[in-house]
Amino acid sequence: MRKRHWKDRKNRKCPDCRKVIYYTRKDSFDRAVGNNTVCKSCAQSDRKLAMETIEKMKQPKTVEHKKKISHSVQKWWDDKREIDWQRLDHSN
Ligand SMILES: [Zn+2]
Repeated sequence: MRKRHWKDRKNRKCPDCRKVIYYTRKDSFDRAVGNNTVCKSCAQSDRKLAMETIEKMKQPKTVEHKKKISHSVQKWWDDKREIDWQRLDHSN
């Protein structure tokens, strides 16, 4: 009565690739069913896809970052020019 239908292990199919996933614990099986969890390989490719999406979303920021870099390069030139002027002052 206590054990009900739970055997040593339970399995369910991955909702993505239909691969059978085995569970040795009832609680992890129940959680997987509740969350509709995919198998390990699908979870990995999902993460890969998510990373690619994040990278794509990053791109507008990268343009802004490049602008910032060019601005700092401009500043660097300004500073350098200032230093050159100082040098000229010293040599004269
Ligand atoms: Zn899968």
